[in-house]
Amino acid sequence: MRQTLLLDSSYYPLQMIDWKKALTLFFTERAEVVEHHQDIEISSPSKSFKLPKVMRLFTKIGDINVVKFNRQNIFYRDDFTCQYCAQKFKAIDLTLDHVVPRSRGGKTSWLNIVSACEKCNNKKADKLPHECRMQPLKKPIEPQWISMLMMKLTHNEKDVWKDWFHFK
Ligand SMILES: [Zn+2]
Repeated sequence: MRQTLLLDSSYYPLQMIDWKKALTLFFTERAEVVEHHQDIEISSPSKSFKLPKVMRLFTKIGDINVVKFNRQNIFYRDDFTCQYCAQKFKAIDLTLDHVVPRSRGGKTSWLNIVSACEKCNNKKADKLPHECRMQPLKKPIEPQWISMLMMKLTHNEKDVWKDWFHFK
């Protein structure tokens, strides 16, 4: 079933929701429909509705959205790519690596954690990047809410909603 992109009142993308949640928000008057999926309808015996494609809440909450620091989101930020050998892996085959090892004072944060395959993680062990000549492919950053939301969409979905993901 198609999803709906939920925006806050300032048109800031918040999350993808399913059609049940979309209709609930509409019928409880907490959000308005900005755009419909043109090709899909939901029918009840008395009425039929076009499925909302983009909805806008009447409240503004975009600014408080911070990407949760967790395993899965780190993998998404790094596109499931080992930051040392540049190969793609499934989540189950990836580990988290402290760029500056904990034993050397490295923190557990967005800026010091990268995705690494087991082989690279073992190879790097407790060494600093310059000691083992293993620099992460990309400098680790704290991801923006919108870019994370985008990364979790499939190719087709990106195409459907791309116009709404304007970066601040
Ligand atoms: Zn690797």
